[in-house]
This record gives sequence, structure tokens and C-alpha cells, in this order.
Amino acid sequence: MVVNLTSSERRSMQPICIETRCGHLGDQGCTLGKTKPFGCDLYPLAYDPDARQFHFDGECPLLETYTSQLADAGSDASRHLARMQAAIKKLERTDTDYLRANFEFDRDYFDLVPLSRTPD
Ligand code: SF4
Repeated sequence: MVVNLTSSERRSMQPICIETRCGHLGDQGCTLGKTKPFGCDLYPLAYDPDARQFHFDGECPLLETYTSQLADAGSDASRHLARMQAAIKKLERTDTDYLRANFEFDRDYFDLVPLSRTPD
């Protein structure tokens, strides 16, 4: 099965840029809105495509809030996770190497802790 990504989806697969101040960071936060790179959209989560496991940046202060919100299907965290699961499902069919590279970067850069809820 061939899945074609839109140009917006392709653009979103740019590498995350966190080692220096990102040029897209404005006074009100990220200026890219819905077109921000996949790795930025995924944060504070990371995804290991081999283990099919989500992780969380253990240094992010939202860890406790995010994980407790997952008990509520209508919460921001649940909506974020569902959106990421859908994006990842698509990428797993077309760009596993990209997902692996993205996770390798996240694993090197962040202090990851496994998220107890696994992808559907
Ligand atoms: S979220 Fe936006 S501002 Fe932050 S690193 Fe990603 S692209 Fe840059």
C-alpha cells in the first residue's frame, strides 16, 4: 500500500531545532502553528517505532499533568496523544527510518521515561 504525504506533511518532517534558539520562536511561542515539524509537534513525547512505545521527556514539568489527563478522553493530553498516534500510524507505513532517526535524536537529547499507555 502506498501512502502519499502532502507537501505540508513532508515539510513537517524537518529535523527538530532545539540546540540553538529556533528562528521560528516568536514572542508568543512557535510561529509555525500547525505546520511545525513533526518532532516539535510530538514533544513532550518521543516515540520508539521498534518497541512501538511512547516516552515522555522526564524533565518536562508537564509530565504529571499530561499522564493524569490521559484518564480523560476529552483532555488536551488525550487529544494530543490521539493526533500523534494517527500521524505515527501514517509514518510507520511510509517513513520508519525517519521515525527511528527522530527517536534516536530524542533519546540522545532528552531524559526519556516510558509512557504507561501504549499506542492503540
Ligand atoms: S516548536 Fe516551533 S519554535 Fe520550537 S523548536 Fe519547533 S519550530 Fe522552533
